[in-house]
Amino acid sequence: MKNLAELFEHEIKDLYSAEKQLVESLPNMVKAASDKKLQQAFANHLEETKTQFERMKEICSELDINPGNTKCDAMEGLIEECDGMINENADPDVKDAGLIACAQRVEHYEISGYGTAVRFAKELGYSGIAKKLQTTLNEEYDADNKLDKLAQGRLNKEALV
Ligand code: FE
Ligand code: FE
Ligand code: FE
Ligand code: ZN
Repeated sequence: MKNLAELFEHEIKDLYSAEKQLVESLPNMVKAASDKKLQQAFANHLEETKTQFERMKEICSELDINPGNTKCDAMEGLIEECDGMINENADPDVKDAGLIACAQRVEHYEISGYGTAVRFAKELGYSGIAKKLQTTLNEEYDADNKLDKLAQGRLNKEALV
């Protein structure tokens, strides 16, 4: 890697892979959630994630980047932890609290990745691409906040007993 443009390309490929993996794994989170609001939150974010993956495809083609089979190893690991929670033998309320914990780790990883990518895009003068990345970043923040509210509002309290 010789310059920020090459590093940016690396970051874009990583985010492309992260979203791709999430499109495949989020349906399992939807199925595993017991609380209807949590299930809805996961289902909504699955739909958003499909759009985010399309956005990454557009960005790759605009920049002539071939994401190939670059893999985001961190997302693979985070999804493994989600799968572990899904398969855990736990009371439904406790499992819901655990699913939220796993899902928020995923959102925080995405938030840091997109935060960096937006900054790099601006620095490189890709203003249109920076805007697209910012749209996704905002969605990740919203998803994280919704999960925070679900956990604080009710789900963690139910899991206490
Ligand atoms: Fe995402
Ligand atoms: Fe990564
Ligand atoms: Fe997300
Ligand atoms: Zn958060």
